Amino acid sequence: MTTAIREETMNPWEIAVSQFNKAADLINLEPGIREVLTTCARELTVHFPVKMDDGTVKVFTGYRIQHNAFRGPCKGGIRYSPDVSKEEVMALAMWMTWKTAVVGIPYGGAKGGVICDPKKMSQGELERMTRRFASEISIIIGPEKDIPAPDVYTNSQTMAWIMDTYSMNKGYSVPGVVTGKPIAVGGSEGRNEATAMGCVFVIEEALNKLSMDLKKCRVAIQGFGNAGSIAAYLLHDRGAKIIAVSDSRGGIYNENGFEPREVIKHKEKTGSVVGFPGTKPISNRELLEVDCEILIPAALEGVITGENADRIKAKIVAEAANGPTTPAADDILFQKGILVLPDILANAGGVTVSYFEWVQDLMSFFWDAEEINKRLKKIMVKAFDEVWKNMQRYNANARTAAYIVAIDRVAQAWKLRGIFP
Ligand code: NAD
Repeated sequence: MTTAIREETMNPWEIAVSQFNKAADLINLEPGIREVLTTCARELTVHFPVKMDDGTVKVFTGYRIQHNAFRGPCKGGIRYSPDVSKEEVMALAMWMTWKTAVVGIPYGGAKGGVICDPKKMSQGELERMTRRFASEISIIIGPEKDIPAPDVYTNSQTMAWIMDTYSMNKGYSVPGVVTGKPIAVGGSEGRNEATAMGCVFVIEEALNKLSMDLKKCRVAIQGFGNAGSIAAYLLHDRGAKIIAVSDSRGGIYNENGFEPREVIKHKEKTGSVVGFPGTKPISNRELLEVDCEILIPAALEGVITGENADRIKAKIVAEAANGPTTPAADDILFQKGILVLPDILANAGGVTVSYFEWVQDLMSFFWDAEEINKRLKKIMVKAFDEVWKNMQRYNANARTAAYIVAIDRVAQAWKLRGIFP
């Protein structure tokens, strides 16, 4: 109870640091590197004007925060939301450092965000805001410095605008400055599905270890955007039964399952999954607690807490979203024997294919979808195995085990590089 109350007051950055400390304690990490890794190396805040459609001028606030670059250029998405805060962007940047390290791709971690309500903005307003934000942060981004990507409420069009803005300022095309671009301007095959695909690969590995059969699994998914909706149809295609999904307006439930591609069409027509024929409405809260084998939080952070963790019935929680489970909830789920596949592993497919996109942009030579998915699977399976080994070795949950893999790689890079000057 005390922990649950304490975590109510923890912001995402404090949660990220607390997850880090848990793993750092287990491996007796030295105080110097601990201090370095619980600090963001570079934090840029920008306030910039945008002309709105009605002729008024609005000033927006945005952030680009680089947590760490020991293992390579910084990498991480850009989020548009009214709830963006500096502490959230810092936490997301730190999680990117661990994510790139867990899957062993040569990047550090960064994240960006703009405080705005994209649902209330026109395409023109979004384009002008994106281009001005891209110009403002162009002093620290670049293909060899820091490479943004899409996140909540940004997409391939947003990335095309950023790529164009950066390129116009340089005087030549620089496709490698962002990933998650449309294929026509240097994007990669498989990027759109990558986060969900990577999540499915680690779910399959976990089911294998637990001797469970995907075809007998019922799945509930919170969030029906890029990560959630694609995970839904990939799992459905592999024989799982999708029994509940939700978006910001609410959720739908049918114990006999439904066809996620039809729900996608319904959402395209009506703007929400709510009201899909043959389903009962449920709240986002209820969705997390439905009787199922696999629960996939694929919306926002902090949804599984000390308050509701005890009512989670799934055997596996696969974190497609970043930071959906609080530290108190982690402890409760571990005690209940529920396997939480942590965000830094479960959603790392997105950044992995982003890495492939960047590599392809730099060499101007592109692979087909088959090549991308083969390489993605190899990386995800290897990362899962390393995390699984550490779970046994340290008797830790999968999150702490994944942190140990990641921290070890970042600390090794730091030792080899030393401190400048
Ligand atoms: P998205 O914008 O495509 O979709 C977000 C979904 O969440 C939408 O369906 C939205 O309606 C829903 N949502 C928003 N607020 C909600 C609320 N309060 N309750 C329930 N649902 C709500 O975003 P996305 O790219 O799918 O990202 C979802 C999560 O996955 C985020 O945490 C993001 O950081 C993480 N993630 C995404 C990627 C990627 O490549 N897209 C990669 C790694 C992690």
